[in-house]
Amino acid sequence: MAARTGAGYLQGLKDCRSVWVDGQSVSDVTVHPGFKGSLAGMAGYFDWQHRHSDDCLMEAGDGTPTSVSHLIPRSRTDLERRHRGLERLARYSVGMLGRTPDYVNVTFAGFAGQPSLWRIAGNEEGHDNLCAFQREIAEKDLSLTHTIVHPIVDKRIPDYEGVNETLALRKVGENRENIIVSGARILATLGPFADELAVYPAHPIPAASPEIAMAFSVPLNAPGLKILCRDHYGVDRNVFDAPFSSRFDEQDAFVIFEEVEVPKSRVFCDANPEVFNTVMRRGWTGNIMQQTVIRAMIKLEFAYELANRMAEVTGQQERPEVTQMLGELWSYAELTRSALKAAEDGAFDYGDGTWICDERPFIALRPSMPGWMVRVNDILKQIGSHNLLATPSRSDFQDDAISSQLAHFLRGADDHGAEERARLFRTAWDMAGSALGGRVELYERFYLASAPRNYSLAHRMAQIGRDWTAVPEFWAATDEITEKYGLGT
Ligand SMILES: Cc1cc2nc3c(=O)[nH]c(=O)nc-3n(C[C@H](O)[C@H](O)[C@H](O)COP(=O)(O)OP(=O)(O)OC[C@H]3O[C@@H](n4cnc5c(N)ncnc54)[C@H](O)[C@@H]3O)c2cc1C
Repeated sequence: MAARTGAGYLQGLKDCRSVWVDGQSVSDVTVHPGFKGSLAGMAGYFDWQHRHSDDCLMEAGDGTPTSVSHLIPRSRTDLERRHRGLERLARYSVGMLGRTPDYVNVTFAGFAGQPSLWRIAGNEEGHDNLCAFQREIAEKDLSLTHTIVHPIVDKRIPDYEGVNETLALRKVGENRENIIVSGARILATLGPFADELAVYPAHPIPAASPEIAMAFSVPLNAPGLKILCRDHYGVDRNVFDAPFSSRFDEQDAFVIFEEVEVPKSRVFCDANPEVFNTVMRRGWTGNIMQQTVIRAMIKLEFAYELANRMAEVTGQQERPEVTQMLGELWSYAELTRSALKAAEDGAFDYGDGTWICDERPFIALRPSMPGWMVRVNDILKQIGSHNLLATPSRSDFQDDAISSQLAHFLRGADDHGAEERARLFRTAWDMAGSALGGRVELYERFYLASAPRNYSLAHRMAQIGRDWTAVPEFWAATDEITEKYGLGT
């Protein structure tokens, strides 16, 4: 089977999964009216990869077209090839979709390409399963989401102690073919709209709790799997009125596992804390953040262009406070592009013949970027002000009488028309201020864990192999000059 189209993707979702929305059980998400726009948006992603097949698809070993996100990079050229495909995919939603399937595809390509991390402590079979699964998702072009963080009831106590520990997803049994797991995981973005749910490590766990050291994947229709959706923010509007909310609510969901049977062939780490606590130590950041930073770069560049156009259409492009904000937006986009380039230029073989970006620029971006994304939304609102709400709809423009008044009263500066003006500000509001915009902002803040955690992590990583010489070297040079010229005594 080759890379799917949107129609093939939608067909695959008709599988009697247990999805809950606002107290209602929805067994066929493809006919739920609230999900129509989001599913069209996701189907469009699969069509897009064919429309831009030169960038997005590659030939698998048997010659079938496959998403480039499955590529296990074996050289710098492979990383460049993957960049081209990921950038094209990100352009589909200008980065407003965070969990397009290429995200988890890239993750699994990285896992499969690093056997030295997985084939330890007796886990050879786990890694064989993982490699077979990685080939399967590529062949069938499955869409995956992941759920990697476990719920916490009480943040005063450690994640895996006391009441918190009791909630953790864990192995509760096994039979000949399956392992059995129960527990919960916090949000799975795309949960109701994906084919498979991958579970793998995020934070280290105590070695004394092997039953929670699990990595596996299950289809979203696995018996016992419950997908509890948050309120849906997608709206039934045309793309002029709501360019993002009409198609790109990727729907987060809380996930409960009640004695879910996972085929042993889909288990990648079976109650093995050593493997669990090793696999994320090296390469994960450098691998996955190529995808996430490309997406962020596309989004920031889009926001910069959008803000420029908003300024022009209202004749604000020369106002000093506006140029300052535009310069700030450009800086975020450029810093992101530069960090990505530095990471890709510094890529190397991490030890298994798999090329991965230098993770240091990404480690620095990871806690910094969430703040930039929040600031981007703030700037869009500041430049937009009331214009974000003085936005006639598509229907208003289709009414002759209203339309002629709009052409007069709500036209833009210079020769910009009212329709262009309305569309610009609607795009900005949907990006930064709508219910979906708010959710995307929260996603940017947390999808790679919180900024405080990541700053601490960055500091800890920076300590590894640290050579503290700058301060003593400065003092030595100072002492030398002081002595030579008889300064101070
Ligand atoms: C829209 C959205 C989609 C998501 N999708 C997914 C998904 O698909 N799969 C998945 O597995 N997870 C997903 N997540 C969850 C995400 O992984 C977690 O939200 C993230 O790991 C942060 O965990 P937390 O919410 O417990 O916050 P914490 O990490 O506990 O942070 C919350 C706040 O606590 C404070 N804090 C935390 N740690 C420190 C510290 N060390 N020092 C000082 N202050 C601190 C900070 O103020 C921080 O902002 C999603 C989250 C969101 C918001």
